[in-house]
Amino acid sequence: MTKEESLKRMSELVKILNQYNYEYYVLDSPTVEDVEYDSLMHELKKLEEEYPNDILNNTPTRKVGADYLKTDLEQVVHQNQMMSLQDVFSFDELYEFDERIRKITKNFTYCCELKIDGIASTIHYEDGLLVLGATRGNGQIGENITKNVLQIATLPKVLNQHLSMEIRGEIYMKKSVLNSLNEKRKEQGEPLLANPRNAAGGSLRQLDPNITKERKLDQFAYTLVNPENYGLTKQTDVLAFFKSLGFSVNENYRLCHNIEEVISYIKEYDEKRKTLDYATDGIVIKVNELGLYDEIGYTVKVPKWAVAYKFPAEIVTTKLNDIIFTVGRTGIITPNAILDPVLIAGTTVSRATLNNEAFILERDLRIGDYVRVRKAGEIIPEVVDVDLSRRDINNKKFVMPSFCPACGNLLVKKDQEAEHYCVNPECGGRILEGIIHFASRQAMDIDGLGDKQIELFYELGYLKDIADIYKLPDYKDEIINLERFGEKKVGNLFNSIEESKNQSLDRFIFGLGIRFVGSKASKNLAKYFGSLANLMKATYDELLLIDDIGDVMAKSIVTYFQDKKHIDLINRLLSYGVKPINKIEESLRLFEGRTIVLTGTLEKMSRDEGNDLIERLGGKAASSVSKKTSFVVAGPGAGSKLAKAKELNIPVYNEDEFIEMVKDYL
Ligand code: NAD
Repeated sequence: MTKEESLKRMSELVKILNQYNYEYYVLDSPTVEDVEYDSLMHELKKLEEEYPNDILNNTPTRKVGADYLKTDLEQVVHQNQMMSLQDVFSFDELYEFDERIRKITKNFTYCCELKIDGIASTIHYEDGLLVLGATRGNGQIGENITKNVLQIATLPKVLNQHLSMEIRGEIYMKKSVLNSLNEKRKEQGEPLLANPRNAAGGSLRQLDPNITKERKLDQFAYTLVNPENYGLTKQTDVLAFFKSLGFSVNENYRLCHNIEEVISYIKEYDEKRKTLDYATDGIVIKVNELGLYDEIGYTVKVPKWAVAYKFPAEIVTTKLNDIIFTVGRTGIITPNAILDPVLIAGTTVSRATLNNEAFILERDLRIGDYVRVRKAGEIIPEVVDVDLSRRDINNKKFVMPSFCPACGNLLVKKDQEAEHYCVNPECGGRILEGIIHFASRQAMDIDGLGDKQIELFYELGYLKDIADIYKLPDYKDEIINLERFGEKKVGNLFNSIEESKNQSLDRFIFGLGIRFVGSKASKNLAKYFGSLANLMKATYDELLLIDDIGDVMAKSIVTYFQDKKHIDLINRLLSYGVKPINKIEESLRLFEGRTIVLTGTLEKMSRDEGNDLIERLGGKAASSVSKKTSFVVAGPGAGSKLAKAKELNIPVYNEDEFIEMVKDYL
């Protein structure tokens, strides 16, 4: 490359990497894989080393995060800059890092920590109280996320000492939480979140902190600003100090005495991390002696006393044998890659989602190609790109089918949406998914009636819609004789079908699969209307009065109950004995026949509110303790009534325990 070409390439790379930074840090929605980003960054760094006088002002190599912040969150100026970390990708680079430190001192050790794949955050405490939470942003200015960090259960809001301090850590989403969130999104026909990091970022930077709460984030603390103020001289002591204050600290850190020990730690955790419930993308290696930090120094972007060793991305090349299409309950058509089975991150992968037509066309995937597959955030397998050098010229360009794979109806693509839909309500594929949804754990929770059984009964003609589930006992003899069914299994299945007849109203509503109505909305609907009959009569205006129900959902509910087919279906369900129980009605019996005494100071409700609640739940609120008292709720300052309860051996609960009992009805 001539100098002119190199400078042109540098400018191109700066532009494209800044765009990728914006997508990754601000939108939480990267459009390229980290490996691709890292390799472009590497190319830019090399060019900048060659032409140090021509480095552009807006180069991402000297910046932390992205230039722009999400504008609707308030900005916070960091008093102490939040830095990034120098990445290393090989053990050779680690030896070089070790050499650099050893030139300064031979008297040091390393603290190795797992690099948690989440969102860097800083949290300020004043006099032991959490007063501010912020994202890293560009290192100088971050976003105020105080309301959101207050929703993180594992982050202490009050410290057990009256300290004023700034701590830093990683806010992350557990893999198990992401999986169940994705299950819900799938049920509601929403696109899946690709990995825990983007899911955590998106959940944390919500304007509505309730959404953050629902997303169940966690935090690990790892950095203390100005540790000398607390007499701490080692990173390992900082971590122990955090633990003593009630922070979550990742327990897998290790003190290593030399770089060989660091390397064996890395090898050990490259295996162990696969079994952890959070995503890790590397190991952070920090000099353990905090007193050496100033001497070793900093660049504008990173400290020189630490590096992040990045685990090699687990990308494997395999053959794309076919692309098959599945139809979801809402009619969404999803293309899936059928692959030659390969082992990725410890599991065999033979299928990967291809999301939609645009995803396939952007990558120009063709059946017969060799494709690179990876497990995104170590969870969902996804196709990254095609190895063009191995393409057979006969492989044909992908064309999205025009007809539904299940019923053959013409597919519809709505403006602005990437997905194709089957809009035929009679489509067998949609009906099957609808039955699976109705019986699922989150809906009617019918044990023993999973995907496989439903598919089989559907094929045999025993199930044509959800109401047929309650007619399955008519096929008892046939089912007992099926392979892998026996008398006992069938008995259990029929018992759980019978039990589900009295499932709670909200689960029943959710199970109907009304478009856009998820489990939370179903709960609100059940609470508001109290019965299925009332819900069926609901008007658009009335629906809008309910929490979290907006225009789209209200219209969808009204349309659903205007359809005669749905009314017939519900009538059949009712005629088969399905009688969803309204939890609100049930709540009236919670304290039936019980006499309850509140005493002492209640901190979360007034005495009157507490007594009202007891009465509302069918109990009797009394003011004195006697043998007839069922239990006592005692707050601080409780005196003679508490003593009397103890004397009479009457159970005593504190306010939190009482709230736990009634929380479903508050
Ligand atoms: P980084 O994520 O590589 O490393 C620094 C961060 O590590 C810290 O800010 C902190 O949040 C985190 N960390 C986790 N555990 C830690 C621990 N125990 N101790 C200290 N820090 C810990 O740096 P970065 O600058 O945030 O991101 C750069 C990386 O992000 C790139 O290498 C790339 O892989 C990815 N990226 C991807 C895209 C894309 O479009 N795909 C765009 C931008 C960045």
